[in-house]
Amino acid sequence: MNELRTGLKSELTADGRFLIDSETAADVAAFFEQQEFEAGGVRYIVIDPGHGGKDPGAIGHYTVSGEKKSLNEKDVVLQTALETADMLSARYPDKEILLTRGDDRYLKLEERTEVANSVELAEGESMIFISIHANASFNTKARGFEVWYLPPEYRRDLLDEERFGEVDSDVIPILNTMLEEEYTIESVILGEKLLASLDEEVGDISVNRGPKEESWFVVRNAHMPSVLIELGFVTNQEEAVLLSSSSYLKKLSKGIYNGIVEFINDYELTRGYSD
Ligand SMILES: [Zn+2]
Repeated sequence: MNELRTGLKSELTADGRFLIDSETAADVAAFFEQQEFEAGGVRYIVIDPGHGGKDPGAIGHYTVSGEKKSLNEKDVVLQTALETADMLSARYPDKEILLTRGDDRYLKLEERTEVANSVELAEGESMIFISIHANASFNTKARGFEVWYLPPEYRRDLLDEERFGEVDSDVIPILNTMLEEEYTIESVILGEKLLASLDEEVGDISVNRGPKEESWFVVRNAHMPSVLIELGFVTNQEEAVLLSSSSYLKKLSKGIYNGIVEFINDYELTRGYSD
C-alpha cells in the first residue's frame, strides 16, 4: 500500500476548508503519479439501508389535513434502497447488487459491513458501498438531501457531538466504519455524481445541501468507494410529507441510480479515476 507521509502540515480553517502547505501539495501530486492503479470494472454494488427492525432510526411527526402521522427512517430508506437495487439489477445483469438488508430487520454494525467484507475481489475489480439514511434535526426548518464522504481527519471530529450537532448520531459509527475503508478520490467523485443526479430528480422540490467533505487528498488507493446519502429530514413537515410518498421515494431512487450509472460509466471508461 502506498501511503502519503505522515505528519502532514495542514490546517483546518474556520470555514471548514483544509489547507496544506506547498511541500505537502507536491507530495500529494507525486503520490498520484507514482500510483499504479488497477484497471477494472465495478463488480459489486452494495446498498445499505440504515437501521431496521427494533431500530426505527429517526422518527418524524407530521400533519396532513389535521391528521397526525409519523414516519420512520428505516422504512423510507428500505423502500428507496430496494427500488434502487431493482433498477441496478435490471441494468447490470453481470454485476452483483447486494443489499445489507432487504426487509425490516435489525442488523448489528458488523453485520452491516459483513456483506462488503465477505466479497473477494478479483484482480482489477472494485466495489462501491452506498449507505442510505434520512436525517433528523431539532431545527425543524432543516431540509434537503446531502452526501457524505469523509477524510480520515474527520474521525476524531465525528465523535464531537457539538460540532456535528446536525448529524444523525447513529450514523456516526457507520461513518467511522466507512473511514476504515479509506477516503478515496473515487468516493468524492461518486458523491458528486450522486448529488448532481439527485439534484436533477428532486432539486426543484428539495434542497441540495451539498457534499459534506473537507479535504481532497487521498491516503490510499482503496477498492471500495463509499458514500452515505441522507435523503432528507423526517423532522421537517414538508419533507416528511414528501418522504412518506412512494412517488417521491421513486424520484430519489432514480437519482441514486442515475448517479451510480454515471459513476460506473466514467469509471469503467477511464479504467479507474485515479490516473
Ligand atoms: Zn440514520
